[in-house]
Amino acid sequence: MPEDYYQMLGVSKDASLQEIKKAYRKLAIKYHPDKNPGNKEAEEKFKQISDAYQVLSDEEKRAAYDRYGHAAFQAGGMGGPSGAAGGGMGGFRDASDVFREFFGSMGGGMGGFESFFGGMGGGSYEEHSDPNEPQRGSDLRMELSITLEEAARGVEKTIRYSRLAVCKTCGGFGTTDKSSKKTCPTCKGSGHVMTSSGFMRFSQTCPKCGGKGYVIEKPCQTCGGTGLVKEKAETVIKIPAGVYTGSRLRKSGAGNAGENGGEAGDLYVVIEVLENDVFERDGDDLRFDMPIKFTLAALGGSVEVKTLTGKVSLKIPAGTQTGTVFRLKGHGMPKLRGGGNGDEYVKVHVEVPKNMTSEQKSKLEDFAKACGDDANKEPSFFSRAKKFFS
Ligand SMILES: [Zn+2]
Ligand SMILES: [Zn+2]
Repeated sequence: MPEDYYQMLGVSKDASLQEIKKAYRKLAIKYHPDKNPGNKEAEEKFKQISDAYQVLSDEEKRAAYDRYGHAAFQAGGMGGPSGAAGGGMGGFRDASDVFREFFGSMGGGMGGFESFFGGMGGGSYEEHSDPNEPQRGSDLRMELSITLEEAARGVEKTIRYSRLAVCKTCGGFGTTDKSSKKTCPTCKGSGHVMTSSGFMRFSQTCPKCGGKGYVIEKPCQTCGGTGLVKEKAETVIKIPAGVYTGSRLRKSGAGNAGENGGEAGDLYVVIEVLENDVFERDGDDLRFDMPIKFTLAALGGSVEVKTLTGKVSLKIPAGTQTGTVFRLKGHGMPKLRGGGNGDEYVKVHVEVPKNMTSEQKSKLEDFAKACGDDANKEPSFFSRAKKFFS
């Protein structure tokens, strides 16, 4: 991590204001969150260079910075520097405000910030970055299905996929004959050319080099001059216990290789937890519909219940009705962010016997008769029993 604002912007201690502006402009475009969605590292960099620019672009602040050193300015956040550097510095502004102010002030006729990313269409970003700079490789995304049991205990999976890798023949240079790679004569290496229409001037991707800024007379035979080749890759992904459908895991650097020696992108693996035949997942809880015998429901007793990790014994009180739900505390899914497990909810369904022997039938009839006079005591149970067995 750079230790001072000059290093953060990549300029020398005696850099002119112009040099500081130029450096900030280049880095701010590169690390802007809109261009690096979900990339924490870029976000942090963007904040750093904004802080650096706020101080170094202001004559007074820069003088104080040079005098009191980096530590005095590190308070960051809201309060801004205090103590040695003195009050009156004001707090740091938000990084995106700095960006907006900077580009707003440069915009002129085209409307500043808005035209920068929005108004000019998709190509505007590329047109303003140096094509010969290292470019970060693109991210890859793939989906991976796992079972509910795997989601419950966590699992490691080997993933096979294809990605762009640096060409081994030319080392990513695009040619094995260095002298055949030349700065593009049309755009002079910038990758874009200016054209005018009436009184408007437009920046366009260079038609000669396609925005690369160079041309290769004898391109590498393996990669055709792009410096990148498709390769089969394999990586192990550690899936934590408790993941959901839609959980996104990132494998840093496992995406496509970058150009001009830029770092590789990331691989994102999106999890799908498959439906389970037995359990229905409800957040961190599990739901399970379990049939129990008619006699068990009537007389009470205990029964073995399936859980994701095995079986537990559940006590069924006498007179249990269909639809009664029992909770098995802590037998649900592990919580992704820790803190124990959800619960398992067991909903019982009382099974009425279908093919009874004549002996069973006559005993049940006796039972029904014995209860007949007492029908008011437990009306629901006996009215149902009569309906089934009469
Ligand atoms: Zn060109
Ligand atoms: Zn090659």
